Amino acid sequence: MSLVSLVRVRQDDEQGIYEAVRRSLDIIGGIEDIVNPGNLVLINPNLVAVPTDRFSGAITRWEVCKAIADLVKEKGGRPVIAESSAAGVDTEKVIEAGEYAQLREQGYDVVDLKTTPGTKIPVPDGYKVFSELGSWELVQKADVIISVPVMKTHDQTEVTLSMKNLKGLIDDATKKSFHRDGLLEGVVDLMTALKPSLTVFDATICQEGMGPIFGTPVPMGLILASKDLVAADSVGGRIMGYDPRDVMITVRAAARGIGEMDLEKIKVRGDATIAEVERRFKRSSETILEGVPPFELMLDKGACTGCRNTVISAIMDLKSQELQGSLEGKYVVAGPLDEKLLPPGAEKENTILVGICTKHLAGRGTYVQGCPPNNIFVVRAVVGEEQKIERRYATEEGSDDQSKEVLLDGKKREKNEGSCCH
Ligand code: SF4
Repeated sequence: MSLVSLVRVRQDDEQGIYEAVRRSLDIIGGIEDIVNPGNLVLINPNLVAVPTDRFSGAITRWEVCKAIADLVKEKGGRPVIAESSAAGVDTEKVIEAGEYAQLREQGYDVVDLKTTPGTKIPVPDGYKVFSELGSWELVQKADVIISVPVMKTHDQTEVTLSMKNLKGLIDDATKKSFHRDGLLEGVVDLMTALKPSLTVFDATICQEGMGPIFGTPVPMGLILASKDLVAADSVGGRIMGYDPRDVMITVRAAARGIGEMDLEKIKVRGDATIAEVERRFKRSSETILEGVPPFELMLDKGACTGCRNTVISAIMDLKSQELQGSLEGKYVVAGPLDEKLLPPGAEKENTILVGICTKHLAGRGTYVQGCPPNNIFVVRAVVGEEQKIERRYATEEGSDDQSKEVLLDGKKREKNEGSCCH
C-alpha cells in the first residue's frame, strides 16, 4: 500500500520547517533506501516564474529545499537544488526573488539548469508522446531525483503538484512542445524517463485561484511526503478539494501503472487526516479579474505556459498602470487557434494576437511576436498608444528597441522572429 505523510509545520520558520520535513520523511521510512553515500541527489523546487512575493504560494520556499538538502547530506549524499523556470523566464531572476541566493552563500549548490550543458534523455518504450526529452546533463547524471512542488491550482491542469513540477527538468523547447503535442501524457512520459524517487510538498503557503503564479496565497502549514508521486498528488489534490479522478495527470499516471491514485489504497500517516485539513481551493476557472472590463480572452489549448503567463502578466500590468479600460471589447488570442474559431466580432482593430503561434492570424489583428513575447509588448498592443506607454516603461531595461518594432510595420516585426525557440 502506498504511504503519504501529512505533517503540520508547528513553527513557520527555518527550524520549524526543517523539523516538519524530517518528520515527514521519518513517517515514510526515511531516505536510507533512496540515498546512498556519494549519490548525486537532484532536488527540484518549483521556481516557475518571478512571484509577486516569495510567500505568495507561487514558488517553493528555500527552507523546504534546504531541509531536504541537509537530510541528504546526513546520509552522505551530494544534494544539488536545480530548476529551469517556465519557457522564456530567466531562472536566475526567480532564484533571486525566492531568496535562494542565501543558500549559495551558505555553500549549497543552487543551479539554473538553463545555463548548463544540455542533452537528450530517452523515454522508455511505452511512451505516449515523446520518445526523448530535451534536458540537461546534470539531470541525466542524477542518481536520485526529488520533486519539491508547492501546492497550487493551475489554469490548464487544475492543480500542479509533484508530477507536473518535473517540467522544470526539461528545456524550453520541450516545454513548449508539451503544450502543443500533449501535456498530460507528456508529463507521464517525463515521469517514466526520470523515475523520481521521492516528493516533498511545500504546503506551508499554497495558492488558489489564478495559479500557477497570480493566485491568492492560502496558508496551510503542511508538509507532505511520499515515495509514490501519484499517491502524493492524489492526496494533495484531495486536500485542495479535488476528486483525484478530476485531475487528469493523476488519472493518466495511474492508468500507466506508475503509482496509486485510489485514496482507499493509500495510507495517510502523520499529524492529521485528509478530512481534518481539507479545504476547497478556488479553481483557476472561477477567478474573476476584478476591475477588468469585459473582453474576450481566447487561450487555445495549445497555448503553453509562456504565453498564458504573458497574457495574465500583461493584464496585471495594465491594472497597475490603470490602463485596464483599454481591454474593453478586445479579443486577446494566444496559441495556435484555428482561424475558423475567431468570433465574428473579432476585427483587425480590436484583436491582439499574442506570440508566434498566432502568426497565421497576423492579418486578423495586432500581432505581437515572440515566443513568448514580453508582456510589455502585449500591453502596448492593447493600449495602442505608443508614446504614452513608452514613457511609462522608459526605465524598463532593454524594452525600448523591441517595443518599437512591435508597433511598427509588418517588415519590422519580421526582424524579431528569430527569438522563437521552436
Ligand atoms: S508562441 Fe506562446 S504559446 Fe506558442 S510556443 Fe511560444 S510561448 Fe508557447
